[in-house]
Amino acid sequence: MEDLQGKNPQSASGTPHGHTRTVMIVDDDQINREMLGFIIQDGYHLLYAENGLDALNQLRSRPQPVSLLLIDLKMPVMDGFELMQHLREDEKLRQIPVIVLTSETDAEVDSLQRGAVDFIKKPYDMPTVIRARVERIIELAEDRRIINSVETDSLTGMYNKEFFFEYASDMDTSAADGKMDALVIDLDHFHLFNEMHGRAAGDEALCQVADAIREELEKTIGICCRCEADTFFIYCAHRDDHQEMLERIAAHVSSAYESTLHLRMGVCTRTDMVQDILGRFDRALAACNSVRGNYLTSIAFYDDELYRHDIHAQRLVNEMRDAIRQKQFRVYFQPKYDVSGEKPRLRSAEALVRWQHPEFGLVSPGLFIPLFEQNGMIRDLDSYVWQETAAQIAAWRDKYGRVIPVSVNVSRIDLFDADLLDRLNAIRDGNRLPGGALLLEITESAYTEDTEQAISVIRAMREHGYAIEMDDFGSGYSSLNMLLQMPVDAIKIDGGFMRAIAGEQGNAWLFDSLVDIARHLSVPTIFEGVENENQYRMIRKAGGDVIQGYYFSKPLPAEQFEQLIEKDKRESQKNEEGTAC
Ligand code: C2E
Ligand code: MG
Ligand code: MG
Repeated sequence: MEDLQGKNPQSASGTPHGHTRTVMIVDDDQINREMLGFIIQDGYHLLYAENGLDALNQLRSRPQPVSLLLIDLKMPVMDGFELMQHLREDEKLRQIPVIVLTSETDAEVDSLQRGAVDFIKKPYDMPTVIRARVERIIELAEDRRIINSVETDSLTGMYNKEFFFEYASDMDTSAADGKMDALVIDLDHFHLFNEMHGRAAGDEALCQVADAIREELEKTIGICCRCEADTFFIYCAHRDDHQEMLERIAAHVSSAYESTLHLRMGVCTRTDMVQDILGRFDRALAACNSVRGNYLTSIAFYDDELYRHDIHAQRLVNEMRDAIRQKQFRVYFQPKYDVSGEKPRLRSAEALVRWQHPEFGLVSPGLFIPLFEQNGMIRDLDSYVWQETAAQIAAWRDKYGRVIPVSVNVSRIDLFDADLLDRLNAIRDGNRLPGGALLLEITESAYTEDTEQAISVIRAMREHGYAIEMDDFGSGYSSLNMLLQMPVDAIKIDGGFMRAIAGEQGNAWLFDSLVDIARHLSVPTIFEGVENENQYRMIRKAGGDVIQGYYFSKPLPAEQFEQLIEKDKRESQKNEEGTAC
């Protein structure tokens, strides 16, 4: 063994960090050792070891760790693989980056999996490349350590998002040979877990997830971060066992809790390397979101279908402003029938927007509303729909001498708009509508997720004479207790929820309970998504007040809706004549 420290001191002083790094070369072949030493000697103190044990002894006796280890694989006494194993088990030594020296292509993947960050091929015929790699790996490791101590997430100790991305793109250009997977892990309904078990337990659960992820990464090259409250990003060498990995992490976490947390994973594999790192994580996130709330599948891969979906979504976003200007959005009206009397009577309607797209045809709001909520454009679209609706109510009033109240959907994003009431009032007054003509639907989850904001805005709207219908009740998680404090004028039972309970034998009592809740609050129940006779009967039997659904009519363009108004008019005239005789 030789210590060639200081062999070339003049070039060592010029390092950007102001001190000379020490690099150790571990190889049993003296010629190879010295050749490599010769190539990188400028700028580094060099240490040499002739086998793994020799290296380990030297490393352990040094007060300061070295900056880089260059390790041959085949050596007597202790080979390179065993040395790497010892390094990984040592808290201090595991921080040292390792480059493997090898002439066998097969050994590359194996050594990367055992913790090496890169490899250099023997014989050493490209000195410039070798020097550049050595420099780069040291730089990366140092950046990681600096940030590690100051810029980690204080709860889990993982990297924060900014550093994670910086380091991940560095990995792309240097160490990993482009075979990396971008993974996103998310916890479904984590806010509920927090509510049920308390914040401290929630924090503990996040730490458990972080520990389990770190455990997984011990077996491979990879880094991870906590990106948002309950979302974790992982960048790791390509693997085929994502499903098993997720199951192991989930098992680790649920072993600590009685109630299981549902974890989902989105994967963007190495095939998507054409995208930059942020793009690949966007894709992994899109895949992860595609299985949100899906209890049968917890893992999704970004594939061609998701890609087409993304491209489609992007086009919709790009074209939306022009589409509003060109009046491509059409407001449809779906009738709501009062079923509390002997015969159903047309009572009101809901305005539902569609996009008459020149290329895609009639696009349903389920496709574009979430996109416009994400980028805030929903505000403009909603204003447009409200204005069109108010004008239509006014036109029907003039034509039929009857005000047909119509409800419009108010996005949760609108609730954060300081001008919301001014916008609504201007539309209502501009069309000279009486109070009660324009009803407002606000989805249940807006009440539960942004409770304080929602309640204060809704109170203000009611003071201005707007009636509020709580939409999609049953799809979210409002507790009964919560509901009692909510300012509402009607409860709309979610169609999916209604159909689920109507489909199950012996669930009729649930209809009774829903109606009871509304009675307790002194508000009517509106059942939406009613499709058949059976559902209709169950609702009537329970004493439900209003029904909206295909059973009566699909949402219709205004001209077709007029036929329903005329039919209702004829029937009411018939009734009047009947009572008059
Ligand atoms: P929503 O407000 O809960 O509207 C009810 C949805 O149920 C509508 O879907 C309606 O067409 C559908 N529906 C009605 N009857 C039946 C039935 O019998 N069976 C089934 N399977 N479905 C039925 P649509 O029109 O696709 O709208 C989806 C959602 O998009 C709406 O849910 C609402 O949240 C949102 N949306 C629609 N228009 C607007 C708008 O102008 N502004 C905002 N912010 N959101 C809107
Ligand atoms: Mg609605
Ligand atoms: Mg609804």
